[in-house]
Amino acid sequence: MRDNLAHKFSSEILVASQKIIPTIASVSFSVDKNIDNPSNANVIDCVLEYKEITAKKKKEEIPGTEMVEGINSRIINSKYRLENFIVGPSNQLVHAAAEAVVRKPGNAYNPLYIYGDVGLGKTHILQATGNAIKERYKDKKVIYTTADRFLSDYIESVKKRTVDRMKEKYQSIDVLIIDDVQFLAGKDATQTVLYNIFNTLYENNKQIILSGDRPPKELTALEPRLQSRFEWGITVDIGIPDFETRLAILQEKARAREFILPQEVAEFIAYNLGANVREIEGVLNQIIAEYELHNTPPTIDNVARRLNKLSITDSLIGNSTKKMAASIKTYEELLDAVAGHFGIEKRHILGDDRKKENMIPRQVAMYLLKNRMNYTYERIGNIFSGRNHSAVLYSCKKLETILKKDQNLFYEINILRDKLGI
Ligand code: ADP
Ligand code: MG
Repeated sequence: MRDNLAHKFSSEILVASQKIIPTIASVSFSVDKNIDNPSNANVIDCVLEYKEITAKKKKEEIPGTEMVEGINSRIINSKYRLENFIVGPSNQLVHAAAEAVVRKPGNAYNPLYIYGDVGLGKTHILQATGNAIKERYKDKKVIYTTADRFLSDYIESVKKRTVDRMKEKYQSIDVLIIDDVQFLAGKDATQTVLYNIFNTLYENNKQIILSGDRPPKELTALEPRLQSRFEWGITVDIGIPDFETRLAILQEKARAREFILPQEVAEFIAYNLGANVREIEGVLNQIIAEYELHNTPPTIDNVARRLNKLSITDSLIGNSTKKMAASIKTYEELLDAVAGHFGIEKRHILGDDRKKENMIPRQVAMYLLKNRMNYTYERIGNIFSGRNHSAVLYSCKKLETILKKDQNLFYEINILRDKLGI
């Protein structure tokens, strides 16, 4: 629960808290070790406490969803579409596979297994595929569920002694989508049921689409026969989007909210937030809330402050108002930091072998000593096992040429500089 809150809702909770107490700068989540103690005053019964909300929720019908009786299906969210899934090098295979499945459900890739880290768009592509199939083939029964829900379906049917009915129902659908199958780990009985359902659907050319946080082979807590079936069709991974893709995703999300995000702000966010698209969206939500509540349009400065508050990134690139870290004073500190940053030993930085993994950090260290700490070439030469002035000069110039082409290294050095306050 804690991880879930921290990953999915931290920015929403922060915004909500700030509406009550504007000075709240950040939120963190921890587990109360005393949670089991019934006299613990912090423990509340949500069902009692939020009776009205729970009752209202139950009554609410969600439009546009066909429920198959007895199946604990999650609602397919119609906002997830293949058309608004931004395609880049990190996910184009996944997108192409999904489109192929939509063209020929059950016949193209069966099962389609998608894996990747959280927040990279697995649920989006799964639901978008479900939506597309439903639109194209009106009579096909499409079910999207999470492994969690599948599990609770099973547990419920065991209690009610209706496991056979549950199986029949699942076996009668045309497209079965199960998200986050890693959560079936260790649930042997549930895996057996899924195995049976899988076989029937597969034999009848019904489409199965799955997602997980790792490839089937690495789902070691799953029965081997299930693991191997997951590999029968196509397995594709969804990677971390590159800068252009992140930028396009951000712009698409802003467009969907009809919010105008200045190009430079969008670029700033896309540069500084990397691995998790959900996080990028969270920041956008906050920017929009800020605009709606206080009429403050986003600028690089106020967005940078926001990211700092969320401590999403240690250091921000391209922002002039960033706080400087306490600066380092000695070359020893610099060498330690560069070695630590590149994960090599200090003696390799100081050495003179020509391995690339040592040469680049060595050049970086010289370059920073010269350009940021104002050491002379001679002094740097003395530190680096008595190299002469021109050898150091050559190394510094060499790095400058590399930096013109290698943007990643350039940003990495900036991050390092920020950390060191130089
Ligand atoms: P996962 O299920 O892999 O944890 P989600 O599908 O929930 O990730 O994605 C998190 C958010 O990021 C969603 O709102 C989703 O719409 C968005 N997202 C991720 N990748 C893309 C993409 N390529 N194009 C558009 N939105 C994306
Ligand atoms: Mg998901």
